[in-house]
Amino acid sequence: MTWRAADLHIHSALSPCAAKEMTPRRIVAQAARRGLGVIALCDHNSAANVRALQEVAQGLVLVVAGMEIMTREEAHIVGLFPDAERAEAAARSVRDTLPLLKKLPSVYEEQQLLMDAQDRVIGQEERMLGAASALDLDETVRLIHSHGGLAVAAHVDRPSFSVVSQLGFFPEPNDFDAIEVTPIGLRAGRERKFRDSGLPIIVSSDSHYLDNIGQGFTELDMNALDFESFAFAQKGPESGRRPRA
Ligand SMILES: [Zn+2]
Ligand SMILES: [Zn+2]
Repeated sequence: MTWRAADLHIHSALSPCAAKEMTPRRIVAQAARRGLGVIALCDHNSAANVRALQEVAQGLVLVVAGMEIMTREEAHIVGLFPDAERAEAAARSVRDTLPLLKKLPSVYEEQQLLMDAQDRVIGQEERMLGAASALDLDETVRLIHSHGGLAVAAHVDRPSFSVVSQLGFFPEPNDFDAIEVTPIGLRAGRERKFRDSGLPIIVSSDSHYLDNIGQGFTELDMNALDFESFAFAQKGPESGRRPRA
């Protein structure tokens, strides 16, 4: 078996709530330092910094092209896509439904940063990435699947912005491919509540700061460092997956 540590939920400075230190080069350097083999960049409602991160990470770390979509119910769903093109295509459908940033508040200055692989700011996203999209839960999962992605119910044990907090229950049946639990949730044994769902359970850091990267991760038995091996391990038997925090 070849175990690789995967932290599948990391934000860059494109996310309005993430620190400016979350630049492509610094994220990849920190991931490598923490011994991660796989990371997923999951900015809120956007995949616009994925290419920069993938360029930096070449040969170092596998960067899965991700996005954290906020549904109309204000539930967070992580989409993990085979490549940047498909993540960007899904992101366009989400972006079209987001309101424009209001011009005036200076609080948005130097936020929602679009960056290149040299950590240069190349622009700012003008849509409000922190807003809920117009897509409901089912439409969001369908959108992710239609672009070949895996749909993960994010931080299900958290009291806000999770499917459980927003609906009041974990929906059954559902079309999720995995359930994400927080590092704190895993340490408290809260993942046990979701065992009956039969879905793969993963742990991710949901990092908004460099120091959080790798604080939660899932060891995956992957024979190669590519999306195919990742998706196979992610969907495969539990013996090929070890959540850690
Ligand atoms: Zn979230
Ligand atoms: Zn997040």
